[in-house]
Amino acid sequence: MEELKKEEEKSLNFLEEIIEADLNSGKHKTILTRFPPEPNGYLHIGHSKSICINFGLAKKYGGKTNLRFDDTNPVTEDTEYVESIKQDIRWLGFEWANEFYASDYFPQLYEFALKLIRQGDAYVDDSTSEEIAALKGTPTEPGKNSPYRDRTPQENEDLFVRMKNGEFAEGSRTLRAKIDMASPNMIMRDPLLYRIKFAHHHRTGDKWCIYPMYDFAHGQSDSIEKITHSICTLEFIPHRELYDWCIEKLGIYPSKQYEFARLNINYTVMSKRKLLQLVNEKHVSGWDDPRMPTISGMRRRGYTPKAIRDFAERIGVARRENLIDIGLLEFFVREDLNKTALRRMVVFDPLKIVITNYPEGQTEQLAGENNPEEENSGTRNIPFSREIYVEREDYMENPPKKFFRLGIGKQVRLKHAYIITCNEAIKDANGNVTELHCTYIPESRSGSDTSGLKVQGTLHWVNIADAVPVKVLEYDRLFKVENPASEEGDFKDYINENSLHVIPTAYAEPAIKDAKADERFQFLRKGYFCLDTTSSSEKLVFNKTVGLKDTWAKEQKK
Ligand code: ATP
Ligand code: MG
Repeated sequence: MEELKKEEEKSLNFLEEIIEADLNSGKHKTILTRFPPEPNGYLHIGHSKSICINFGLAKKYGGKTNLRFDDTNPVTEDTEYVESIKQDIRWLGFEWANEFYASDYFPQLYEFALKLIRQGDAYVDDSTSEEIAALKGTPTEPGKNSPYRDRTPQENEDLFVRMKNGEFAEGSRTLRAKIDMASPNMIMRDPLLYRIKFAHHHRTGDKWCIYPMYDFAHGQSDSIEKITHSICTLEFIPHRELYDWCIEKLGIYPSKQYEFARLNINYTVMSKRKLLQLVNEKHVSGWDDPRMPTISGMRRRGYTPKAIRDFAERIGVARRENLIDIGLLEFFVREDLNKTALRRMVVFDPLKIVITNYPEGQTEQLAGENNPEEENSGTRNIPFSREIYVEREDYMENPPKKFFRLGIGKQVRLKHAYIITCNEAIKDANGNVTELHCTYIPESRSGSDTSGLKVQGTLHWVNIADAVPVKVLEYDRLFKVENPASEEGDFKDYINENSLHVIPTAYAEPAIKDAKADERFQFLRKGYFCLDTTSSSEKLVFNKTVGLKDTWAKEQKK
């Protein structure tokens, strides 16, 4: 195991190799990366991979990372999203060197466009988008030149300035790069650089009515900030040629683009556009619904930043796309929570037990460790008396041999308390068990057990007199199929209608009353839980973060 670890430490991923080579050759003294979200939605777990890579590489090599809002599309962007993105990055544990907005570069980008026009490298096209598409060609056939392609630089400049001044209608003209309509790379066939849009921008207001396209904003923004390594996802590979072309024609700082595979996870969708539909059409309660693959949803559900970072580290950077099992992320959530979660006992479906030989009117305080994984976590008091609840499913009328729980004549240990023997089941007129009568063995108290008895089952329980009623929300996958986006028809046809399970009243031990929003709990034998944002002191509401079962580790052993 140790050797394996050393081996892992030695091998660099392809981005680290590139960076180390650049630092060793003296090409760069230090590195500067950026995370460039478009503020048109909340961040999802896919973005966290990009965040961990960009911030992680800078951290590892003593460089810095800029946060740049790629806000060049006025229609879909919003300040609410800007704030949520900042909150999510900080929560993940990263801090940016500078906060920039691509929209701050609009004046500079406009100057760049004028430069291309004057050099004869860009022209104003009066074609409609249909006309442009019709001349584009196909991957196997070259396109045809636009009839406006040979305008003089003076004419182009005049038209472009007038585009900016709002003299022309939306869609009537565009600015295009003059490259090569026969290029095998379709993106190089005179790509659009600017379009007219009379839209209000969340930062620049109504100042601009022309907006740069992604390809004319992104690379130039990188260059303005002197980003050394511009790391993006694989779908931008064909854009790299244009990225380099713009930088070369403008003679600006030569940022370089590198691509890695997007993160895809099964049983969910990972596109802001699709997630927005789920929110708008009320399939979920909001962007932070605990079933959402958003950072805010995962935070609300109880996932930890460390678990997400460890997950990102484990999946690493690859250059081939694949679908990662959500079980892997859950594995890291469990790993982290097991070390930090406070242990509490909560009964979800109560069955009353009367301990017939325990003195009436007596209550004793037992001690339960808060977290056996952490030495200094202390203990909490757990009251014990004659009447307690156990889980209904922990009793069986005719139990099979291996049922190490309750049945007539069987013995179990009550966690942190005593061994009890089940003597009698009391039933109502319909034959349903309403309570069990048991006896306890006074010498078997946990921590000072002198009974000499050995029992195989240990049950969680709560003392009825001071049990705290709480509400519990359990979640299942949001989709019924592994890859809803790739299925036939609409991805929403595959929504799992039973992904939320509400337990209106579960019964918790009294220590639960001190629960705080940032604390995590393990409800014994149930899983990991945290307070939901809808929780109040009158009614505590818990989200189930993840169950205890570790299907992923089992899968690995196969
Ligand atoms: P979406 O399709 O969800 O809207 P996007 O790529 O349009 O995603 P941006 O806000 O433009 O979202 O992304 C910011 C950064 O995060 C980009 O560098 C992008 O490549 C990266 N990113 C987005 N989705 C993923 C993903 N699933 N895996 C890894 N990186 C991603
Ligand atoms: Mg995008």
